[in-house]
Amino acid sequence: MVEVIVEARETEKVYYARYFGVPERPEDVLVLLPHCIQSSTCKQELAEGLSNCLGCGGCKVGELSNVLASTGVKAAVVRGGTSARQVVQSTRPKIILAVACERELESGIKDVGSIPVVGIINDRPFGPCKNTSVDVDIFKKSLEMICKQ
Ligand code: SF4
Repeated sequence: MVEVIVEARETEKVYYARYFGVPERPEDVLVLLPHCIQSSTCKQELAEGLSNCLGCGGCKVGELSNVLASTGVKAAVVRGGTSARQVVQSTRPKIILAVACERELESGIKDVGSIPVVGIINDRPFGPCKNTSVDVDIFKKSLEMICKQ
């Protein structure tokens, strides 16, 4: 497990990884995605669940949903720190896999206290907070690393 974290760090995509334990059960894992990863032209209401994504290919949410589909982990799209904190409080995960910018990851990791966080830095081809993206392979690898198969 530590091995995979080191590998991920070398890509400079994983910002913080405070996880050095054994993989958790899927139901104890929470995935947090930022709302800005959804296409700005998409009208689907993802705050109600990723299952509302139509998988049209207009953004990475469809691919991420496919990765998550068979895993049984909890996942949510959040709008900033307050929204993320509410999801964490209601789901009580043992570990969080979060996609966000460096700034949001840093503040989010402080906010959740003792819960371990693996943070994947998002890609921002159009600047911050709009039509952001993520490396799906790194996301998948990170999820496999922290989640009992
Ligand atoms: S992949 Fe899903 S979230 Fe992204 S634009 Fe298509 S329907 Fe909307």
